[in-house]
Amino acid sequence: MSLEPVYKRVLLKASGEALMGGQGFGIDVTVADRIASDIAEARHMGVEVGVVVGGGNIFRGVAVASKGGDRVTGDHMGMLGTIINALALATSLRKLNIDTVVLSAISMPEICESFSQRATLYHLSMGRVVIFAGGTGNPFFTTDSAAALRAAEMGAEAIFKGTQVDGIYTADPKKYPDATRLDRLTHQEVLDRGLAVMDVAAVALARENSIPIIVFSIHEKGGFAEILTGGGLKTIVSD
Ligand code: UDP
Repeated sequence: MSLEPVYKRVLLKASGEALMGGQGFGIDVTVADRIASDIAEARHMGVEVGVVVGGGNIFRGVAVASKGGDRVTGDHMGMLGTIINALALATSLRKLNIDTVVLSAISMPEICESFSQRATLYHLSMGRVVIFAGGTGNPFFTTDSAAALRAAEMGAEAIFKGTQVDGIYTADPKKYPDATRLDRLTHQEVLDRGLAVMDVAAVALARENSIPIIVFSIHEKGGFAEILTGGGLKTIVSD
């Protein structure tokens, strides 16, 4: 495998569920360490990396709303979950001596820096991995939308959406063994076909900013680096 990356600056989206491993909840440090080692590999290749982490392993706002509670409070709880995950991933990266900063959309200066585009570009230029925490900072959004937003703000060449499977399939491959992986799609096709890869707002934002979305399996060790060099199994969503 060539170690020459095709991309120089990317945004990796990892769902909170990716961090929980085989547990039903929370963070499996072994899994966080493994994902961190993939990010470290990308850094060693010279790729600038921003990361948006989800929070679904800790809390989702709809869980409150579905039981009659206030959705906004639920979403605040979900966003706080993403900050816990971001701190866990930053810890795993620092264990590997990867310089890392957490920028949060919700200010909590005792814990981490606040997000701004200026801070993002500065830290990237210093060779740091930038982990974007707190989603967009707004309720009724998701961390997928945060990924598209931060990718546009940091000038990422692509969004790498790490999922449970190695791309977008014609149907859920876990339920339908005959489902086949699609190699290439446009953003519009993803929207028209209602493919559940990222939410509609995220795909629309990526389309408007002409940012490709590369869907791959986050569970393959070394998979991120392989895809950064143009190989590996994936689906590319681009215009
Ligand atoms: N969330 C939010 N605004 C955002 C991002 C996230 O309110 O901009 C909340 C929302 O409640 C969501 C939760 O945080 O359910 C966790 O994020 P998400 O569901 O995107 O995590 P993932 O599925 O990627 O683990």
